[in-house]
Amino acid sequence: MTQVVSELSKTSKILICFGTRPELIKFAPMIQFLVASGKQLVTVNTGQHTDLLLPLFELFGIRPDYNLEAMVAGQSLNALGSRLLEKLDPVLEKEQPDLVLVQGDTASAVMGSMAAFNRRIPVGHLEAGLRSGNPLSPFPEEMNRRLVGQIARFHFAATERNRRTLLDEGVKPESIHLVGNTVVDALHQTLKTTRPGSTVAEMQEWAAGKKLVLVTTHRRENFGETMSLHLRALREFIESRTDLAMVFPVHPNPNVRAAVNAELDHHPRIRLTDPMGYCDFVHLLSHAWLIVSDSGGIQEEATALGKPMIVLRENTERPEAVECGVARLVGESPERLREMLRTALIDEVWHASASRSCDVFGDGHAAERICDVLFGASEKTNPLQPLSIAA
Ligand code: UDP
Repeated sequence: MTQVVSELSKTSKILICFGTRPELIKFAPMIQFLVASGKQLVTVNTGQHTDLLLPLFELFGIRPDYNLEAMVAGQSLNALGSRLLEKLDPVLEKEQPDLVLVQGDTASAVMGSMAAFNRRIPVGHLEAGLRSGNPLSPFPEEMNRRLVGQIARFHFAATERNRRTLLDEGVKPESIHLVGNTVVDALHQTLKTTRPGSTVAEMQEWAAGKKLVLVTTHRRENFGETMSLHLRALREFIESRTDLAMVFPVHPNPNVRAAVNAELDHHPRIRLTDPMGYCDFVHLLSHAWLIVSDSGGIQEEATALGKPMIVLRENTERPEAVECGVARLVGESPERLREMLRTALIDEVWHASASRSCDVFGDGHAAERICDVLFGASEKTNPLQPLSIAA
């Protein structure tokens, strides 16, 4: 582990800026930890996602101090960016935080760090140092993450690879802290402390005796023909055998909805649902036979749970999921997807080896570590296990 450098005093005020479902899931363990340790905390919801966040607030017992409602239907990325800056600035001016924490690669993360920088407030970046290697994919997230990396003072890396990437880019070693990803904290905590709702029980009954394929897709690079052809291949796969069933919580983005309605409607062994609550989703994930998704967070969750996954992307900024054997990258080609789906069925050796859980993204104690870095280790926190490190 990197040497711990504490820069904040016990009474420092932290402002956490988030706006999307994955950011809130990954910040939830941090927020809970900071609240439990009595720290001064301000939570700002930019409103990049709206309905997707409401059940999460309830699940994690979080009530944001500010709701900026920055989302306007159909607005360009530039319009969103400027609205975020405009709405964040008065909050920073009023609250005068000692540190702004952002997570990942969203517009809320990049604009949150920019707004803080312009007011000379230091920034901490959770999930720092991920790179796909292609500035245009995922778009605009890859560039967002790089830009946050230019601004951040604290870089919280989830894996050894992420730490090395930052070092290679010239970030000072003492600013980088290898802590794991808080998504694993949220996952383990949720699976341990909650029970799935009746929807999950009903879905499990519906899919009883069948292999359950859980699908999500929402990436901008896949919109259009690529997404339609992937969905067609998935439908053909489910049609090919009666012992296959598919559940697909459909992202609210209109591009996704249109493709799904055109390709997947009306099949008795395909269930299309609204986005599922996180608690239900992770319980279903833990029962899936195969996951097919372009989601970043789900790659981390599948790895932590040991769930074979086909990633609907050309590249991934989380190659650890592929290297540890859980995930396979499919790219744009529907033929390749068909081939991989077939392989999942017939290659039992692959399926069994991909079903081994791996803690490369963390061991469930990332939030504690981040708080220790920021405030110094408290006697109340558990002695931490060193992370297992993947090259
Ligand atoms: N998720 C959820 N309900 C769903 C689908 C996904 O709660 O119906 C969760 C999932 O467990 C993961 C996160 O949403 O933690 C991933 O979000 P998303 O795929 O939207 O974004 P990404 O991780 O790709 O940025």
